[in-house]
Amino acid sequence: MKALVYTAIGEKKLQDHPKPEISAPTDAIVRVTKTTICGTDLHILKGDVATCTPGRVLGHEGVGVIECVGTSVANFKAGDHVLISCVTACGKCVYCRRQMYSHCTTGGWILGNSIDGTQAEFVRIPYADTSLYPIPEGADEEALVMLSDILPTGFECGVLNGQVKPGSVVAIVGAGPIGLAALLTAQFYSPAEIIMIDLDEGRLTIAKTFGATATVNSTDGTAPEQVMKLTGGIGVDTAIEAVGIPATFEMCQKIIAPGGVIANIGVHGKKVDLHLERLWDRNISITTRLVDTSSTPMLLKSVGAKKIDPTRLITHHFKLDDIIKAYDAFGHAADTHALKVIIEA
Ligand SMILES: [Zn+2]
Ligand SMILES: [Zn+2]
Repeated sequence: MKALVYTAIGEKKLQDHPKPEISAPTDAIVRVTKTTICGTDLHILKGDVATCTPGRVLGHEGVGVIECVGTSVANFKAGDHVLISCVTACGKCVYCRRQMYSHCTTGGWILGNSIDGTQAEFVRIPYADTSLYPIPEGADEEALVMLSDILPTGFECGVLNGQVKPGSVVAIVGAGPIGLAALLTAQFYSPAEIIMIDLDEGRLTIAKTFGATATVNSTDGTAPEQVMKLTGGIGVDTAIEAVGIPATFEMCQKIIAPGGVIANIGVHGKKVDLHLERLWDRNISITTRLVDTSSTPMLLKSVGAKKIDPTRLITHHFKLDDIIKAYDAFGHAADTHALKVIIEA
């Protein structure tokens, strides 16, 4: 089968790869119909993810049709349309029993990381019963690709952990796909204000059409002052960090109001200073999380009921044969204005 393989640091190839086979009775083999590329895939290609070694098929998002299932899979059969979760859950370990599927002792984020992923014609899904979701009849499959990772990530790590409430004031630092997913799902709770902060004016313009009440361009370094001005000198109740660099996390510390929550989503590769000398008496909380995808059933219902439209995050379409072009478009988002790219297998 065709698959996008991480071959060496900085290198990837669309090449022939052995078709996956059932290796445990709880497995399913899924024929991938649509997949996408994540910022994390770019991190892997740079060599930032030690658990992902050359030879691996990348990708942890997608939808498809079940080809075959292992003998103990009870919820799915060949021919079923399914949503693939980026997080694999055994459903039985201590973390799964607490719905912390991302920390599953034999699962978690393994797809396209320590086992072969979804940027291929076929993928093996371990623990199929608890790692796949049935796609309702008539659902928009492209919309659901956004539910493999970015929507639950923006919602769980940003909105839920950030305790967004009716009437609250929210700032989202970073208007990439994850920040925009947080922006879409924050509106479930009717906050009074959502301030989007980014360097890219194009992304801020998109953020306005997604429901941001104000935008702040952080290019000139005065973003914290601008946010304080917008909030009458108080700051924000929830600051969602959706970039993953020291400057953006420090910005969250400058704009958080007393009693507020800083909810980190970004993947940090460098140490960040925590300014307790300013924050020790301000009753704030800081949260971190890897997406558990425990909200996926709820998001499936919300998308099905058209309460949110995640297809707005999709900017480009490619065939699997052109996945290298898809990586180029996604990797040069400032020029191509790419948010999420759909790859059809
Ligand atoms: Zn991802
Ligand atoms: Zn588990």
